Amino acid sequence: MLTAQRDSLRQLWLILWAAILVPVVLFGYTAWSGYRAAHDMADRQIVRTRDVASEHALKVFETIDRSIALVDEIVRAIPSDELPAREPELHARLKQIVAQSPQMKSLWVFGANGRSIANSLLLPSPSLDFSDRDYFSSHIDTPGKDLFIGDVLRPRLPYAGVDFFSISRRRNAPDGRFAGVIQVSMLPEYFETFYDRIGREDGAYLALLRDDGVILARHPAGTAALRLDPQSPLGSVLATKSESGVLTGMSPVDGVTRRVAYARLPNYPVYVVAGYDMAQIRAAWGRWLGGYLLFGIPATVALVGVVLLAQRRTRRFYVEATRRQAAEAALRQAQRLEALGQLTGGVAHDFNNLLMVIGGSAQQLRKHRDGPKAARSLDMIDTAVRRATALTRKLLAFARRRALAPKVIDLGGYLAEFREVLTRSLRSDIIIRCEGLVPGLAVEIDPDELEVALLNLAVNARDAMPDGGDLVIALTSRSFALGPGPDGIGGDFVVIRVSDNGVGIDPQMRTRIFEPFFTTKEPGKGTGLGLSQVYGFAKQSGGTIEVESESGKGTTFALYLPRSRKSLTPVVAPVHESHQAPPGAKALLVEDNKEVAEIATGYLTQLGYAVTHAWNVDEALRLLRDTRDFEFVLSDIVMPGGLSGLDLAQTVRSQHKGLPVILATGYSERAEAARRDGFLLLAKPYSLETLMRAIQQVLREPEKQSA
Ligand code: ADP
Ligand code: MG
Repeated sequence: MLTAQRDSLRQLWLILWAAILVPVVLFGYTAWSGYRAAHDMADRQIVRTRDVASEHALKVFETIDRSIALVDEIVRAIPSDELPAREPELHARLKQIVAQSPQMKSLWVFGANGRSIANSLLLPSPSLDFSDRDYFSSHIDTPGKDLFIGDVLRPRLPYAGVDFFSISRRRNAPDGRFAGVIQVSMLPEYFETFYDRIGREDGAYLALLRDDGVILARHPAGTAALRLDPQSPLGSVLATKSESGVLTGMSPVDGVTRRVAYARLPNYPVYVVAGYDMAQIRAAWGRWLGGYLLFGIPATVALVGVVLLAQRRTRRFYVEATRRQAAEAALRQAQRLEALGQLTGGVAHDFNNLLMVIGGSAQQLRKHRDGPKAARSLDMIDTAVRRATALTRKLLAFARRRALAPKVIDLGGYLAEFREVLTRSLRSDIIIRCEGLVPGLAVEIDPDELEVALLNLAVNARDAMPDGGDLVIALTSRSFALGPGPDGIGGDFVVIRVSDNGVGIDPQMRTRIFEPFFTTKEPGKGTGLGLSQVYGFAKQSGGTIEVESESGKGTTFALYLPRSRKSLTPVVAPVHESHQAPPGAKALLVEDNKEVAEIATGYLTQLGYAVTHAWNVDEALRLLRDTRDFEFVLSDIVMPGGLSGLDLAQTVRSQHKGLPVILATGYSERAEAARRDGFLLLAKPYSLETLMRAIQQVLREPEKQSA
C-alpha cells in the first residue's frame, strides 16, 4: 500500500477516535458541571427551607415566651395565700391561652414544692409531685437560667395523650427565692405537621434540635426522643456551637447520607435543620443526564458507524487499487515479453546469419592464410562481430526491466537505425520505406519503450499484410500551440506515422483495439497486448496515439510525442589515433575464460605490453603483492569463486593507490555498481580499438581511479 493510502487510513482512524472521544469528553464535562449545578441547586433549596423553618420556629418560641411572661404576671398579681382559692379562675385563664396556641398541649404553674398550683388541663390539679421532672428540677439551683427546653417526654397522666417536650421558666418570689415553675408542654406534632407541608418532596428532611443534639421534632416523622451522637457529622458541628452552615454526612439515626443546612435560633438554645437525601440529588442528576444520553448515544453510535463504514470502504478500495497496480505491472511485463518474443525471433535469425559469416570466413582463412582473400575474410569476420555485438546489446537493454528512463534522442537518426532492426524482424515481402528522417526532431522518452512500441506497430502492419506490402515510417512535426490537438494535447509535438496497405480495421473495432487482450488473431498468433503497450507508452510520455483506417486499403497509426528542445547528450568519446606502450611496460590480465584470455593477451601484446595472466582474484592479489610495476589491471567482473572483479578493483583502489583498473563484462548485475563506483567499464566483446581507447583513458585520468 502506498504512503498516501496509509495516511488517509490513519486519518480515518483519527476521525474514528475523535468521533468516540469528543462526545465522551463533552459528556464527561456536561455530567461534571451538571452534577455541580444539581448540588448548588440542592444547597440553595435546603438553605431556603431551613430559613423558612427557622423563621417559623422563632415565632413559635417567641409566642411561648410571651405566654409564659403573661402567666407569670398574672400569678405574681395574686398573693400566694389566695392562690388555692383562685385556682378555678387561673385554670380558666390558662385554658384560654392554650386554646389560642395550637403548638401548646398544656400550660402549668408549679409551686416551689413541685405540686401544680393550676393548669390548663384539669381542675382541680392532680395531687402529684412533679419535682423530679427536668423542666422543674433544672430551675431549682440555677437562678440565672432563663428558658429551659426539656426532653421529649411521655405524659405521666394516663389520659393526657401524646408525647411532648416542655418549655419552662423559673418563678421568682419578690425576694428572689425560688417560687416554682411555669411550664408549657409543646406538641412535636405541631412542628412535624408544618414540616410535612414545606418538605413534601421525596428525600426532604427537617428537624428541630435542642443545642445538645436532642431531637425535638423531625420530618419524616420517626421515633422521637433521640439524641444525635456527638461523634456524628452534624452532632460534632453542633458541639462547636456553630451558628449556621451546610454539610454532607450520614445520619446515625436513619443511616441516610444527606446534604443539610443548619441554623441556631437567635436567643434560644435550639437548632433548625433542613436537608436533602444525597441519593435523591444524584437520582435527579442521573435523570437529567439520561436525557442527554438518549440523544447522545444514538448520535455517537451512528457517527462511529459511518466512520467505520468509510474505513472499510476505503480499505477495500485501496486493496483493489493495489491489486490493479499489480495487474498493470503484470500486464506491462507481459507486453514486454510479447515484444521480446517478436524481437528475439528476428535476432536469432540474424545471429545465425552472422555465425555463418564468421564460420565461413574462418574456413576461407584456413585455405588462404595470406593475400587479398584472407584480408576479405578477416574484414567479414570483423563486421559480423560488430553487428552481433550491437544485437546482443540491444537484447540486453531490452530485457533489463526498468521504469521509464527518459533520454533525449534525435528521432531522425534513431528511426534510421530502427529500420535496420525492422528489416531483420519482418518478412522479406514487406518493403520498408522511411520518410522525413531529418535531424533536429528530438524527444525525451525511454528509448527502450519506444523501440517496443514501434516494433508492436510494425508487427501489426506485417500481420495485416499476409501477402506482402509497403510499410512506411514517416516523421513530421506538429504544433498545437494555438488549440488543443487530438486527445486534448497541447504544445509542440513530433509525429511518427506507421502506415501499411493491409486489410484495415473494421470501424466497429476501432475503439476496442487499444484494450489489453483485444485481438482478432488466432490463438498463438496474437496476445492483444501490442497496442495497449503503445497507448500506455504514448500517454506516459505526454503524447497520444491516433488511428486512421479504411477496410481493405490500409491503416495508419500516428504516434504523437512531445518535442524536446534539450540538447542531445554526446555519447561518442574523442578518438585517439594510436597507442603504443613504452618499452618494458607490464599489464596484469585477470580472466577465467581461456579463449577470451588468449584474445585479450593477443590485443595487449599488439599494443606493446608484457602480459601477466591471473585466473582469479586471489591469484591476481598475490601477483600484485610480488610485482609492483604493472601499468594497469584489466579484469573480468564475473569470476568463479568468492571474489569478483569489482572486489579486486576496490582492493586495488585502497591498497595500490594510483594503479588503474579496467573492468570488462559481457553482462553483469554488478556492472551498474562498478559504474557508480567510478570504474571504467569495457563492454564485451571488445575490439582492439576499444581496448586501446580504454587504456588511454585510464592512463590519462589516474585521478578518476582514486576517487
Ligand atoms: P495483437 O496484435 O496481439 O492482436 P494488438 O493490440 O497489437 O494485439 O492489436 C489488436 C488488434 O488490432 C489486432 O488483433 C488487429 O485486429 C487490430 N490491428 C492492429 N493493428 C492493425 C493494422 N495495422 N491493420 C489492421 N488491424 C490492426
Ligand atoms: Mg500486435
